[in-house]
Amino acid sequence: MEDRLFRTAMGKFATGVTVITTEVDGEVYGMTANAFMSVSMDPKLVLISVANKAKMLSWVQESGEYCVNILSQDQQEVSMQFAGQLREGIEVNFEDFEGQPAIADSIVTIPCKVYQTHEAGDHTLFVGEVQNIKLEDGEPLLYFEGGYKEFKA
Ligand code: FAD
Ligand code: NAD
Repeated sequence: MEDRLFRTAMGKFATGVTVITTEVDGEVYGMTANAFMSVSMDPKLVLISVANKAKMLSWVQESGEYCVNILSQDQQEVSMQFAGQLREGIEVNFEDFEGQPAIADSIVTIPCKVYQTHEAGDHTLFVGEVQNIKLEDGEPLLYFEGGYKEFKA
């Protein structure tokens, strides 16, 4: 099957946008990801899928934890920053939450400990056990057909 057909089909599945953050030796790293889902209520588990070629893979393997930051519609630039899509980088504010680096003004922040790891083709799935949750008001940033979209209630 052609890669383009797969990408086009997967791009029809509208999602929110998250930035996955983690800290190793006092340095904070982030990566934009829309491959995120809720998995289990008891225990409370979520899932992210990280490309094996992404630097984030080794950072999460090393730290054993990651924080999911669900972005608001005012944070498109933050998404682009952590996808390496900005020519001139922007500074991002991090706040400590449960000992993990949370991105300020995200609508949801979910610090997780790695619970299970599964290799899946050219990606690695990290099931995370949710440590706590912080909620803020705001509309979500949406992603559809390879572009950012506005939320309309
Ligand atoms: P890098 O490419 O080095 O880092 C990514 C960017 O973040 C760089 O520009 C870097 O300067 C910046 N950055 C890192 N840390 C900081 C910091 N502390 N402060 C400020 N900037 C920082 N890939 C997946 O594997 N899974 C997905 O689910 C996924 N979903 C995506 C969804 C969308 C909407 C988009 C646009 C991309 C998605 N990607 C996904 C692709 C992924 O975001 C990029 O390939 C990304 O560049 C991979 O990052 P990296 O870990 O290799 O590190
Ligand atoms: P796109 O048309 O390449 O992607 C559309 C959809 O296809 C994405 O939303 C995702 O669901 C899927 N997809 C894309 N690349 C994938 C990959 N390597 N592995 C598994 N699924 C993938 O265009 P885009 O949405 O504008 O993506 C921009 C860049 O970000 C591309 O380089 C893309 O590869 C990368 N990206 C990667 C993933 C991922 O690894 N899961 C997800 C989204 C985007």
